[in-house]
Amino acid sequence: MGVQSGTSLDKFSAPEAELEVKYSLPRQVRFCARCVISNQRPSSTVEFKNTKEQKKETIAFDAQNVCAACQYAEMKDKQIDWAARERELVALCDRYRSKSGQYDCIVPGSGGKDSAFTSHILKYKYGMHPLTVTWAPHIYTEMGFRNFQKWIHSGFDNILFTPNGKVHRLVTRLAFENLVHPFQPFIIGQRHIAPKVSSNYGIPLIFYGENQAEYGNNIEDNFRPTMDPKFFEGDGDPAKVLLGGVSGDQLIRQYGVGADELQPYLPADRDKLRAVGTAVHYLGYYLKWDPQECYYYAVEHSGFEANNERTEGSYSKYSSIDDRVDMMHYYTTFIKYGIGRASYDAAQEIRNHKITREEGVALVKRYDEEFPKKYLQEILEYMGITEKRFWDCIDGARSPHLWKREGGEWKLRHAVWMEPA
Ligand SMILES: [Zn+2]
Repeated sequence: MGVQSGTSLDKFSAPEAELEVKYSLPRQVRFCARCVISNQRPSSTVEFKNTKEQKKETIAFDAQNVCAACQYAEMKDKQIDWAARERELVALCDRYRSKSGQYDCIVPGSGGKDSAFTSHILKYKYGMHPLTVTWAPHIYTEMGFRNFQKWIHSGFDNILFTPNGKVHRLVTRLAFENLVHPFQPFIIGQRHIAPKVSSNYGIPLIFYGENQAEYGNNIEDNFRPTMDPKFFEGDGDPAKVLLGGVSGDQLIRQYGVGADELQPYLPADRDKLRAVGTAVHYLGYYLKWDPQECYYYAVEHSGFEANNERTEGSYSKYSSIDDRVDMMHYYTTFIKYGIGRASYDAAQEIRNHKITREEGVALVKRYDEEFPKKYLQEILEYMGITEKRFWDCIDGARSPHLWKREGGEWKLRHAVWMEPA
């Protein structure tokens, strides 16, 4: 089965040890002994500072080849006192709960299973008065828009912010061409919208669902209930913000973007946030987070509907289904890091004891490299690029340490299903 990843560099054939490594990923590919994720998985980054040259931090593996996300999953099962954590949540809600009919917290989200769960349980179990806030997808799927409506109809006020399409299409194209990361402008906008609404409306408490650290940032991040403000605060200077690797002032000077048109992408103003006392908490710190349980809860309480077909590139039907660009986002992670959507889905479900590792490996083999063709033409039109340009960018993003060309086709050098059992 060609080259296997081993535990020491000397197992490499000499030519492989000399292959170029893009994005400063670890040269030696390793797969977690418990789930299916590889050590090429980048950690969350401050997206508005992301450049092509930036060194990527990646998921840590221990000496037994267990990834940080699996180590944390074990702590969730065995070490954390969830009853004590829930008492902390009650105390936090008691501190902020409004008695006068004002909103007392903000729940950002799309109306997917996670935000539906978070907002509903805060309102109906913990007696909070959430205002929900949404940064619109690039291009709604019908299912996504329907779930968004159902969420609101299940009992929530909502502010839907939709960015200027002309600018959003431009920066999505730049993010694709320069970083092969078409989802970046969405991630930036989505991260900034809730803190801005917080400072503008004077509602200090924000609740996200799970902490992204559960999927493999520093384990210690999971033991802090709040998000590091570096992800969402700034001083309003467009020169300090990068969109698709292009700085805000360059967008103004060279691309004719108005300074006003950049506002949605700038982080929230630090002084305003301090004045309001904005704090971003993760509900997943206080309640044991399980995506499939969130799904069941959302179906029962907010009428959430899974898709009637599986998502391209995976076997799942209920996560991240509201944006037509979403499937392409995961395809780009497959190209850049060798980790596709089925890998992310299977890794999470193995950690939550929904499937075995063996089943996960089979699912990755079957679905990970499936190309999401359904919305391709629409996405090309949205970004204003040709299909040829699209493939040039995709193929240019393949790191030689992960990919080889064989018989006119691109093939992964390493995959979890190529490993010896
Ligand atoms: Zn793992």
